[in-house]
Amino acid sequence: MDTPNKIKKLYNKYSIAVWAYLCFTLIGIVVWIIRDVRYFFLFNGIGSSELITRIIVIRQPKYRQLMRRIIQIFVGSMLLFMLGLGFGVDFQFEHIFFDFQAGIVTGALIHGIIARIVIPFVFGNACCSRACWDGMFFEAMNSKTRCKKPAKRNPWIAWGYMALLIAMTFFVTRYFTNPAGDENELLRRNWIIGQNIFIVVFGFILTFVWGSRAYCRMLCPYLTISSLLYRFSIFKITPLKSSECSGCGACTKACPMLIDVREAVQRKEKISNPQCILCERCVSACPKNVLKISYKKAE
Ligand code: SF4
Ligand code: SF4
Ligand code: SF4
Repeated sequence: MDTPNKIKKLYNKYSIAVWAYLCFTLIGIVVWIIRDVRYFFLFNGIGSSELITRIIVIRQPKYRQLMRRIIQIFVGSMLLFMLGLGFGVDFQFEHIFFDFQAGIVTGALIHGIIARIVIPFVFGNACCSRACWDGMFFEAMNSKTRCKKPAKRNPWIAWGYMALLIAMTFFVTRYFTNPAGDENELLRRNWIIGQNIFIVVFGFILTFVWGSRAYCRMLCPYLTISSLLYRFSIFKITPLKSSECSGCGACTKACPMLIDVREAVQRKEKISNPQCILCERCVSACPKNVLKISYKKAE
């Protein structure tokens, strides 16, 4: 094989790993310039972990889900336990508005811009399956058996919930105490614990009513934002060998976001559902290796 072809083949094989590394490192450099060098180490660390685990998965595809879970637990724990409870940085959506009312900018806005506006142009909603601290717990709520008739996402409910959260921050600041204030360190930590327990418990209960990953599919404001940009994502779940699909439906059954993957494969289309979180469960479930995260056209 000649050299340009070899390079092309290597790029095809490792493109996600390289893009992930470059993307996170670049974000790290930008946030380092804006804030401080710790952000460079944080994002470079995430990019390096993604690079290493991707290379392992290319060689050993059976570890795909294990590697993703390791990344998810590593990043999720760092955001929730180390930066959240350790340093008092609250990354939840509503904290962007608490910060705004306190006249400061902290991790919530930086996280929101990076994970929900910048990364979606390259990797869609992948932060949901790899970097969300609540997603770490929601993995246990992927089952569809708890609810016989899962609800479909309703944009009115999703945007209404977001508006309710924003209104709640103004209410709390007006009538109680803004947890974002510098002098409210203890309150902020308690708030982080309380709101995350609420989201996880509420999300778990909702799975009985609305089905798998109910909180994520129906309410989460972060997914509401990033799903608007999903269509621009370079990498998406793509059928690369549709003709080999046996129609077994294992991909659809494995999808925690209740997406009909088989139907897309049979239409020879990429997964264009804006709620896809790039968890690759459909990829792992397919016995024919039809699916892949890819920038290529569906075949
Ligand atoms: S939808 Fe929201 S809660 Fe669910 S994994 Fe994504 S960011 Fe986390
Ligand atoms: S379509 Fe595949 S990658 Fe997307 S959410 Fe469903 S299982 Fe995960
Ligand atoms: S799991 Fe694979 S073979 Fe089965 S329907 Fe899905 S794409 Fe086709």
